[in-house]
Amino acid sequence: MSQEHYDIAIIGAGPTGLYAAFYAGLRGLNALVVDSLPQVGGQLTALYPKKSIFDVAGYPDIVAENLVDNLHTQARQYEPTILTKTKIMSIDKYDSEFALHSEDGRSFSSKTILIAAGVGAFSPRKLQLEEALQWEEKGLFYFVQNPEVFHGSKVLVIGGGDSAMDWAMALADNSDLTVIHRRDKFTAHEDSVNKVKSSSATIKTFYELKSIHGTNGQVEKAVIFNNKTKDEETLEVDAILCNMGFSTNLGPIKDWGIEILNNAIKVDINMATNIEGIYAAGDVVWHPAKLKLIATGFAEAAIAVNNAKTNLDPKAHFFPGHSSSASK
Ligand SMILES: Cc1cc2nc3c(=O)[nH]c(=O)nc-3n(C[C@H](O)[C@H](O)[C@H](O)COP(=O)(O)OP(=O)(O)OC[C@H]3O[C@@H](n4cnc5c(N)ncnc54)[C@H](O)[C@@H]3O)c2cc1C
Repeated sequence: MSQEHYDIAIIGAGPTGLYAAFYAGLRGLNALVVDSLPQVGGQLTALYPKKSIFDVAGYPDIVAENLVDNLHTQARQYEPTILTKTKIMSIDKYDSEFALHSEDGRSFSSKTILIAAGVGAFSPRKLQLEEALQWEEKGLFYFVQNPEVFHGSKVLVIGGGDSAMDWAMALADNSDLTVIHRRDKFTAHEDSVNKVKSSSATIKTFYELKSIHGTNGQVEKAVIFNNKTKDEETLEVDAILCNMGFSTNLGPIKDWGIEILNNAIKVDINMATNIEGIYAAGDVVWHPAKLKLIATGFAEAAIAVNNAKTNLDPKAHFFPGHSSSASK
């Protein structure tokens, strides 16, 4: 089994993992960052990309997706390997290195690990329809990285949250768009909902998907129904974009031999876990002063990476020096 070798493997590309990747680069560490989602940014990208954040130091008001872009750009200065759609299922220790094994059978070798897994691996809530699996990626999508590929198509968007409304806004003027939501209350930002409502999109509240039909491996029709009146309608569609939220699960992490307390990883003041060489930071940790915030995740990432550095090189200083003294 061929393995790639790293100084530090960071599990999770949320704000904490991305900042840790930057910090690892600053300290001269060869870093790997993995995330189960197709995009970086953790909760910010998955749950509230268009919302303003007001409590990140130095930014009086920054939209979540812009903060993620900035963190990504900052991290990439040091060219870490960033792999999305990579969920780590298990960890082994061989001699002085850890082996991390992903759900799709890849393995990575790293001298240290930083777990920045937030509230656990995110997975999209999937349609509870028997035939849904057969249409995944054949017209039925749970993630949309580039809505432009659906321009000019007949599209059905399902959901009432921020991501569903973001997709709808991106498609409203360029496609034949219908949006269905099982309630009449939307959890998305009011401004986004209003923009979709005032667009040419058809919005149907109290509607759900009943069945999907197609031929030659491509979705062609969606049958929707009103959950109050039970009236049914058949829509001709090229694509069904479904965003009914995400479920999270610490899942496999609980089996890695790491001490868990209050459904989180117990760390000491160095962000060290009970296993030497494995650190944790961000929402996934528990310590007596824990606050589940972006700001604290950043600080914990810096502490964890500086400790990983001295673990790898006992002669290195724990204090990294001031970044303002470094040359570009
Ligand atoms: C609606 C909302 C609004 C918020 N507003 C604010 C705010 O204004 N200010 C603030 O400070 N905080 C806010 N927060 C909280 C903030 O988003 C979190 O504190 C922050 O996202 C934690 O970052 P993280 O990187 O530790 O974890 P996350 O953002 O949860 O990222 C963890 C990543 O790890 C990945 N992962 C987990 N397990 C695995 C695995 N086994 N293999 C691979 N990948 C894995 C996940 O897929 C995820 O992408 C808000 C949260 C929500 C839900």
